Amino acid sequence: MKFDVAVVGAGPAGSSVAKFASEAGLRVIVLERKKETGFPSPCAGYVSKLVSRHFSIDKACIQQEVKNMRTYSPSGEVQTAGMEGFIVDRPLFDNALGRQAKDAGAEILKDARVTGLIKKEGHVRGVVYKKNGEEKEIESKVVVGADGIFSRVAKWSGLQTQDRKEIAICPQYEMAGVELDDPTITETYFGVSYAPGAYVWVYPTGKNSAKVGLGIKKSLARMKPKEYLNKFIAEHPTASLKFKNAKITGTLTGLVPVGGPLNKTYADGVLLVGDAAGMTDAISGAGIISGILAGKLAAGVVSEAVAEDDCSEEKLKKYEELWKKVLGSRLRRSLEKRKIVDRAYSSDEELEKVLPWTWITFKEFWKD
Ligand SMILES: Cc1cc2nc3c(=O)[nH]c(=O)nc-3n(C[C@H](O)[C@H](O)[C@H](O)COP(=O)(O)OP(=O)(O)OC[C@H]3O[C@@H](n4cnc5c(N)ncnc54)[C@H](O)[C@@H]3O)c2cc1C
Repeated sequence: MKFDVAVVGAGPAGSSVAKFASEAGLRVIVLERKKETGFPSPCAGYVSKLVSRHFSIDKACIQQEVKNMRTYSPSGEVQTAGMEGFIVDRPLFDNALGRQAKDAGAEILKDARVTGLIKKEGHVRGVVYKKNGEEKEIESKVVVGADGIFSRVAKWSGLQTQDRKEIAICPQYEMAGVELDDPTITETYFGVSYAPGAYVWVYPTGKNSAKVGLGIKKSLARMKPKEYLNKFIAEHPTASLKFKNAKITGTLTGLVPVGGPLNKTYADGVLLVGDAAGMTDAISGAGIISGILAGKLAAGVVSEAVAEDDCSEEKLKKYEELWKKVLGSRLRRSLEKRKIVDRAYSSDEELEKVLPWTWITFKEFWKD
């Protein structure tokens, strides 16, 4: 069967494209290499309530509703700011989004690794994938690369891919028995000896449990990623007290692109969304909401292109104009701040000075 759209990857960005393109009446197939969508998925799982404007958030995914974020500076200064949202169980969350895409009419093919693109007379016209050891083909008018940080779809289409130097390595533990002050407050901690290049997060998943993780930039790191996390848990003057009786119940490490959006996110018959397009915030590392928003925009552009029987590069270009209008200034701001913050990781004193201008909970961050 021929499809209008083949979406590679069933993360939040891919499910968003699939749901909205299906709702617009397109024939959509999603190919996901994992056997179960979202399992495993290294993620702290903070999502803004804005997500519920685009997908209904299944109650079963919500681990904790949060209202504020508390920031601890290197010197121990504490600032609390409103930041409402949910901490979600990422595998359940991804599954729920996938289900909504399926309910809208998309076909979801799991355990199907895309291994290449079909090209006809220079135009991308579908994907090659492997399932149960067999190689098969699916024809489609457009291929959407929603295949995460080191997007193969981007590479196969001749588009720029994520600069491997511009990534944050993020180990994370799930912990029980954490003495949290208040489970509706997410906590972030800064310090060059704990998280060089980024920050530590303690995101509550219940009254006494949390996801505890951090990001580090390889170029700034002097130890292995997990050694930083263990050091934070054992030695941070404030946080370590909360972990005295805590136990690790799960552990995962993931990568976050912090180099900003790719310089081009479309090609003839191809669009890139989410992490595949570098749409993750270069300061906070958040990428779920931007992937969902970009996915919805991509779906709109693809349905116009299919209706006009023109899926050329020229036609699909509109997608980049649209996502830049919606996400461009936020992503650009964070990228500029990222450059400042990278230099400040020379010492805690420098970091302390720049923190209000480079961290999202401060008013100064948002000033032009
Ligand atoms: C430790 C950590 C904590 C994070 N915390 C947060 C947070 O709290 N809030 C937030 O908003 N963001 C967070 N992020 C970032 C967030 O996880 C990503 O931005 C988000 O997952 C991007 O969604 P996506 O759909 O673009 O890509 P992904 O979620 O990476 O999905 C890509 C999908 O494509 C599939 N795939 C890849 N290649 C192929 C192929 N060849 N064939 C078929 N399928 C393929 C993968 O299996 C995967 O399912 C965190 C990231 C990490 C690593």
